[in-house]
Amino acid sequence: NVTAEYPLKVEGLHKSFGGITAVDGASFEVERGSLTGLIGPNGAGKSTTFNLITGMLKPDSGTVTFNGEDVTGMKPHRIANRGMVRTFQIARELGDMTVLENMMLAPQAQQGEALWRSVTPGVRDDVIRQEEELLERVWEVLDFFDIDHIAEEYAGNLSGGQRKLLEMARALLTDPDMLLLDEPFAGVNPTLEKRLLDHIHELRGQGYTFLLVEHDMDLIMENCEHVIVLHQGRVLTEGAPEEVKANEDVIEAYLGG
Ligand code: ADP
Ligand code: MG
Repeated sequence: NVTAEYPLKVEGLHKSFGGITAVDGASFEVERGSLTGLIGPNGAGKSTTFNLITGMLKPDSGTVTFNGEDVTGMKPHRIANRGMVRTFQIARELGDMTVLENMMLAPQAQQGEALWRSVTPGVRDDVIRQEEELLERVWEVLDFFDIDHIAEEYAGNLSGGQRKLLEMARALLTDPDMLLLDEPFAGVNPTLEKRLLDHIHELRGQGYTFLLVEHDMDLIMENCEHVIVLHQGRVLTEGAPEEVKANEDVIEAYLGG
């Protein structure tokens, strides 16, 4: 069963902004449980593709299928509900809330579920139980990312690195099958980069699927088992890192910018 093995399938995606074609027929699949890298030079269309997949943008044409369901053009929270989740930068307004509060709000922020508001008497007990379960899961995830000791800190006071960990922790809290990260290491020091990568590898070992969008080719080559190269809005080539690295078209695309 192809769907079971390849939860994400992107077919013939096109997206233009005015006269600029950002994505020009990109097609690829992501294998379940894989750490797949999407690379390409600046302007290749990586972020636009990412936004088309996660519902932030609607394609002009083409389809996005997730776990066998056509999710093309669906709202981000509906896609997240189905188990495909992207990380979000912690918005400035969330800086006045603690790490713990940020975490407690994560599921409804991503999934659009007003967990707390469904307080009709009949479901009140359910809500309390859900809240307790969520809190338990929050502590588990904070512990996993080694940020449980800063649970009471205001998010606005965190270092850049701690914020990245919180962003990933928030994404994980929505119980996804698949996580999509767009340049998660931008502006991150090497120590923290290593730590984030360790977490990603560990989660992958637990069965999560990752699509990592990165400009830094070496980083992807060292960490992903499958690499997709985007160039001028379409897939130039894909394969194992060794194959892709040796591909002359890839070298040229990167040199040519
Ligand atoms: P990458 O993430 O690979 O660097 P992008 O997807 O950000 O590439 O951009 C691909 C192309 O589309 C670039 O030429 C970029 O300038 C253009 N582009 C992206 N977003 C917009 C937008 N909102 N409006 C106009 N042009 C855009
Ligand atoms: Mg980008």
